[in-house]
Amino acid sequence: MNTTNIQRDIVIIGAGIAGLWLHARLKQLGLHTLIIENKQLGSGQTIASQGIIHGGTKYTLTGKITAAAQSLTDMPRTWRHAITSVTNTPDLSTARILAEHQFLCSDASLASKFTAFAAGKVIQAKVTALTRQHHPAFLDHQSFRGNAYQLDEPVIDVSSVLQAFQNQTPAGEILLVDEANGFTIESDHQHPVAVINLQHSAVGAIRIHTPHLIFTAGLGNEMLAPILRHEAFKTQRRPLQMTLARFPAASTDQFKFVYSHFLGRTALPRATITTHFTKNSNQIVLYIGGEIAETGINRSRSEQIAAAKKLLTQILPAVPLQAADWATYPVDRAEPLQQNNQRPDNAIFTEYGNIIAAWPTKLALAPYLADEIATHLQTKTKSAPRNSTDHPEILKNWPRPTVAPAPWDQEDLIWTK
Ligand SMILES: Cc1cc2nc3c(=O)[nH]c(=O)nc-3n(C[C@H](O)[C@H](O)[C@H](O)COP(=O)(O)OP(=O)(O)OC[C@H]3O[C@@H](n4cnc5c(N)ncnc54)[C@H](O)[C@@H]3O)c2cc1C
Repeated sequence: MNTTNIQRDIVIIGAGIAGLWLHARLKQLGLHTLIIENKQLGSGQTIASQGIIHGGTKYTLTGKITAAAQSLTDMPRTWRHAITSVTNTPDLSTARILAEHQFLCSDASLASKFTAFAAGKVIQAKVTALTRQHHPAFLDHQSFRGNAYQLDEPVIDVSSVLQAFQNQTPAGEILLVDEANGFTIESDHQHPVAVINLQHSAVGAIRIHTPHLIFTAGLGNEMLAPILRHEAFKTQRRPLQMTLARFPAASTDQFKFVYSHFLGRTALPRATITTHFTKNSNQIVLYIGGEIAETGINRSRSEQIAAAKKLLTQILPAVPLQAADWATYPVDRAEPLQQNNQRPDNAIFTEYGNIIAAWPTKLALAPYLADEIATHLQTKTKSAPRNSTDHPEILKNWPRPTVAPAPWDQEDLIWTK
């Protein structure tokens, strides 16, 4: 098999939201980057996410501004700009915003707590308390006695975002490797990475010479810890069992669409529910995360569906649940290892030699993470990008990954009444 040598300023492993946004940002700075993916764009966490572009409000429920809340403050504006402007980098102008705002609902027993919360200075700018006549349609039921707030947090259609990234990434900049063969790394006496080797039975083999390797591989970052024997690259998994309730599109007239956190007694919402459309648009899906997805890992599939039905009967009395088919979707969040497995407060990247591993920890923080890494690399690559823009034929012919299907469009998902 012939081997082609190429040079790139930066190689990124993993085409989830972190790798894709970073690639676009580094290209904007004139760096020649290339992404390697071993499944599909966004497979793993990105396609499983609820698409909420948090502005930090949920994270102030403890009464203090956490680091997470601070870095998130600007994210709704950044994402809206990327989706509504045709001159932004990345260009997400073909992506869709599913909802301009999220809601935050509390039941009557928690009302006073949330009146105090909403009066807090931090919150006032981002949250609008709604009078009953302005409540969203899904709360329109005589049994709802709680409070509702509107948050300045859009919800995006993740599939359309991934598709927009795919459209703007030319052949040769994003390469599919098969999971079995993957890639291999060669070091030299100065750097843990000097060359990445890829091969594909249909097109051949390439050696990519690069001074920087960045892992944005989600759970795939786990592979770094044993290779590098470095604590900083250890990963923690936070397992979730999401629940899906699928309705014929016609039956949704009664409640319109739900995009809301439903608060309980802790800082974690009892449920966070978003609404999505199946690929053929005939059905809509309520996608249920929050506390019930975290505690759900201890329940069987049928127990989890029963628990979700019970909770939704309480918090969404206006929704005709009898019309739904139900499914569950187990998925892990991948984060850098924290003390006592706590949730990381912010996007994090860590460096060893010329390798960086990065975790946005939230979809919303991908632009922030990309900016942080770009600034860091700019201090290291002060001279003009030194690598060539070689585009040998083999790169143009190399297979490209497709966009991962959304959870509700996955063929192996089991739906029951
Ligand atoms: C159920 C759920 C709901 C969520 N909801 C939200 C939300 O509403 N808002 C929010 O801000 N955040 C949310 N998150 C968090 C958010 O989805 C993640 O923080 C974010 O998507 C992580 O992106 P990533 O690119 O780092 O990783 P991933 O999306 O996991 O992407 C990693 C990519 O690397 C590839 N890869 C892995 N190993 C290799 C390898 N060896 N070689 C090549 N490629 C490899 C994978 O195939 C994948 O494409 C949610 C997460 C989950 C699980």
